[in-house]
Amino acid sequence: MQFFADYHTHTSYSGDSEAPMLEMVEQAVQMNLQQLVFTDHVDYDYADTSFELIDFEDYSREFAEIKHKYLGKIDLLMGVEIGYQPHVADRIRELLKSHPFEFVICSTHMADNLDFYTGAFFEGKSSRKAYERYFINVLQSVQQLDDFDVYGHLDFIVRYGDYPVKQLHYRDYADIIDEILKALIYAGKGIEVNTSGYRYGLKQLHPQIDILKRYRQLGGEIITIGSDAHYPQDICFEFEHAYQTLIDLGYKYMTVFKERKPAFIKLR
Ligand SMILES: [Zn+2]
Ligand SMILES: [Zn+2]
Repeated sequence: MQFFADYHTHTSYSGDSEAPMLEMVEQAVQMNLQQLVFTDHVDYDYADTSFELIDFEDYSREFAEIKHKYLGKIDLLMGVEIGYQPHVADRIRELLKSHPFEFVICSTHMADNLDFYTGAFFEGKSSRKAYERYFINVLQSVQQLDDFDVYGHLDFIVRYGDYPVKQLHYRDYADIIDEILKALIYAGKGIEVNTSGYRYGLKQLHPQIDILKRYRQLGGEIITIGSDAHYPQDICFEFEHAYQTLIDLGYKYMTVFKERKPAFIKLR
């Protein structure tokens, strides 16, 4: 199967990746992708401060060099994955205004000032309570931040927390999830299908099928596909499955972006 693009990848400019940008591009060229989108992390006031800030001077220089080198072979996009928290909203807005990003993913990596990775967020909470608080935080960010294109890995909270069953059901959070999806659609924003769950031993896309189904029922059309690759070999990981799932759910198009504007490419 020939894939068009990967809309969620990290390079060594992200705190949690050591993949050189050039190696990511070489892999994508080898796979005959038309586009590769870098979405390195910017998470202000994150538990791990290495996620805070990309060195944009170095980043921009390297990006421009590599983009030029591969001109005509692959289209490279400078995107970003923002970790939203209400108290850093102004810094995020400022960052987005002052850099020429072509694609912006808004994600929730911490909620109520507590982080998922170390487990702090889950302390003293049932899974029900934790997932509910996560979705409330997501809704808040959709309502507060206007400057983004798609919401990142909606429902990936299920990956974290020391619960015996790592699963959440749309029906248990239907009201708040519907509110999130409607707010996104109303604002002209989209969601992504993120395939990284399969690398974490979860048998689901983020978001899961029931949420993808609901998004379409509500009229959602903007949907990008991303692997969340932190290594070259993970580019387009499980994309065949993602494409097929979307087709099975009745989606006819995936979304690509150019200078923050969506365009639609037929899924096949
Ligand atoms: Zn993320
Ligand atoms: Zn990511």
